[in-house]
Amino acid sequence: MSALALDFPAIEAARRRLDGVAHRTPVLTSATADALSGARLYFKCENFQRMGAFKFRGAYNAVARLDPAHRAAGVVTYSSGNHAQAIALACRLLGSRAVIVMPRDAPRGKLAATRGYGGEVVLYDRYGEDREAIGQRLAAERGLTLIPPYDHPDIMAGQGTAACELIEQAGPLDVLLAPLGGGGLLSGSAVAAGALCPGCAVIGVEPAAGDDGRRSLRAGRIVHIETPETIADGAQTQHLGRHTFPVIQAHVPAIVTASDAQLVAAMAFCAERMKIVVEPTGALGVAAAFGGELDIRGKRVGIILSGGNIDLERYAALLAGIPREGALLRPAGAGEA
Ligand SMILES: *Cc1c(COP(=O)(O)O)cnc(C)c1O
Repeated sequence: MSALALDFPAIEAARRRLDGVAHRTPVLTSATADALSGARLYFKCENFQRMGAFKFRGAYNAVARLDPAHRAAGVVTYSSGNHAQAIALACRLLGSRAVIVMPRDAPRGKLAATRGYGGEVVLYDRYGEDREAIGQRLAAERGLTLIPPYDHPDIMAGQGTAACELIEQAGPLDVLLAPLGGGGLLSGSAVAAGALCPGCAVIGVEPAAGDDGRRSLRAGRIVHIETPETIADGAQTQHLGRHTFPVIQAHVPAIVTASDAQLVAAMAFCAERMKIVVEPTGALGVAAAFGGELDIRGKRVGIILSGGNIDLERYAALLAGIPREGALLRPAGAGEA
């Protein structure tokens, strides 16, 4: 047994569980994106995944792995975002019960979506109460199993299945760019790519306002930060996980960042040129490909578009604020120095 929380056979097992349940999402290409970046880019469209983000993969895998008694008793988690909806949907599909601890001031659309998938929402005050403590108390009181959003081997294994598919669909890659919050997606992607196309550099992309992942890699330990202020709400994590960090340390050569302005430009590019809706966190990889921090010219680059869940009014407001088309996208090679 490996000392790490994730190995490739666990990802292969997750693929079998997800077969026929999760969508095999399409991989798009764009001649304009290739010209702008100087690379050959392959966009894995997890914005088209069930419930609108890759998180369905990990959540379904984790709930499917529960033994019948635990599955019947139900699951509890804390999340205001995509993991909440993913757990609610996975539980509905698997005949389990989901209790989701969400902040009282969470967007109404997210509360409604979670309830719409059959989840029971327990509200808390995010300024005065500790959601992890509430989750643990509910787990103890009601015999529920706690499934956290990223720091769990079954979650990590499920998230790794997106990269497996991408590599099958696009062929071998030189670079794979994955959005980074708590590291479930990045750790899964890195183990998948390491097995399927050794030599592929799997690079995490996190918001510039919250670069705890990059600092953790440099420091060789998990760095904790305050909740970062960024439009990338799926990556507002304060630290990597005790399971995800060692896997990232072992398999990820670099973590780069993207600013909110770069994310908006990347979202606009996806809408205008590729005709797809991508949420801010989902655009992190696109922003990195255009950002100039990485030299990807001449390379085959996979990009995980991790999700597309954004309130329409917020989406419109973000895109309405940008300068003329592509002004924030730098042409290939312009970002050095
Ligand atoms: C959760 C999430 C991420 C970050 O995933 P982690 O596994 O926490 O690193 C990225 N993009 C979207 C759309 C997400 O919902």
